Amino acid sequence: MSVPLQDASPMTFNHQNLQIGWFGEPDISIQHGGDIQMLCTDEYQDIRHDILVIGAHPHADELLMALRREPATALSLIFVTSASAMSAHLANGLWQQGWYQTAEMFLQRQQLWQLEPGDNLELRLLSYLWLHPGSTLEPLKTPATAQLYDYPLLTAWGIEQSGQIGWLNALTQKGWLESQQLVNRVRYSPCCHSSRLNYLDSCPACQDINIQLQTSLHCFNCGHIASEQSFRKQTGLSCPNCYQTLRHIGVDYDRPIENQQCLHCKTLFVDAAVSAQCLECNTSHELQDLIVSNVCRYGLTLAGQLLARQGVVANLFTDYGGNQMSLSQFCWLANWQNQLAKRHQHCHSILAVKLANDEQLCGGAMQLKELEILQQRICAIVRTTDACTQYTEAGMLFLLPFTQAHSVRTLVNKFIELKQSFSVPLYFDFRSVSLPADTGLNFQSWLLDSLASAKPLGHE
Ligand SMILES: [Zn+2]
Ligand SMILES: [Zn+2]
Ligand SMILES: [Zn+2]
Repeated sequence: MSVPLQDASPMTFNHQNLQIGWFGEPDISIQHGGDIQMLCTDEYQDIRHDILVIGAHPHADELLMALRREPATALSLIFVTSASAMSAHLANGLWQQGWYQTAEMFLQRQQLWQLEPGDNLELRLLSYLWLHPGSTLEPLKTPATAQLYDYPLLTAWGIEQSGQIGWLNALTQKGWLESQQLVNRVRYSPCCHSSRLNYLDSCPACQDINIQLQTSLHCFNCGHIASEQSFRKQTGLSCPNCYQTLRHIGVDYDRPIENQQCLHCKTLFVDAAVSAQCLECNTSHELQDLIVSNVCRYGLTLAGQLLARQGVVANLFTDYGGNQMSLSQFCWLANWQNQLAKRHQHCHSILAVKLANDEQLCGGAMQLKELEILQQRICAIVRTTDACTQYTEAGMLFLLPFTQAHSVRTLVNKFIELKQSFSVPLYFDFRSVSLPADTGLNFQSWLLDSLASAKPLGHE
């Protein structure tokens, strides 16, 4: 059944043709302007709608899980009419006024999206995070499980809860994901990978757990140490071993710092031995043998965004040589050079090169084969420089030591020469700043601000 179209509101993209699939109770109070088709909650296979909405429904969370599990809707834009336990993890926001701005961004990205994830879950996650801008992978606290935390999207995709943190760590190592917030730290047993641990303090001599706090006294006359209780007599304190009367602390006796005693072997001690007992299998572990895992909220890094957007092959600036560093490393190095330059009257330049029409090129204007060649040619230029970093999806920064502003042209010309070899015009944006400069405390902000306000260098 189709709900009649409402009047179009002033929107910037053509949403009239949008196919909206609707589950559960319909809600037409919000202007939609698209073609709404009611869907059955038990028919969620092979859905091909642009947008899905889940209305009031008693099993909304199960439905969300089922939709994410299906390859056809694993990455879809799904709205819910009211928040539920899982909606923050599996849906993409509330169905409310302005929903079409979210939809517009999603559909635009879907057009640009070049990655073919297939069955590869790593690429699927990168695609998900990129197709839904601003979304992050949020852990869900699940105290009833032995893992304590779960990433519902990964669970829907069939990744075992016990392996999720390790899987995410591997993606972080590859440089595609980054932790955006450290949510918690959990310790797991090395035997069963369980957080159900019982921390036991025991006697360091005989490992018996029957220990207790006890105040002891130490007789200076004979060296006897025993519980304070055994020294207490009606007349005051006296040693049960040598019968000496103890009057002054520090002169006749003192209190040893060992304030715990084993009731099994009678040893007195300061610190009990602590071990962690796995409640699943009863194995005892030293604390340093436990697996410590950070539970984080994850988002895409720049490299992850590039990969999702441009696909594996068309990654123009990223098949770099060893001279590419992170933006913060680059800024550290440039800042250090800046300090030296001030002291020794040196002169360095920083050049920013940006491909202004990369969206057009990667969006289909250029054949894949030609894109690969362009990538190789760019990388060949990058390898001839000393230090560089990628600072936007389509741009690089180069540090050119001992290079005056006018000599920057040599590198600029290499990029300009590229233009002759390709069928599609390449539009580069070149900007440079010179060191030494007064950069203030935050070098990175200074650099990005200065580049933004610098005059683009001429192409000829
Ligand atoms: Zn165990
Ligand atoms: Zn004594
Ligand atoms: Zn003991």
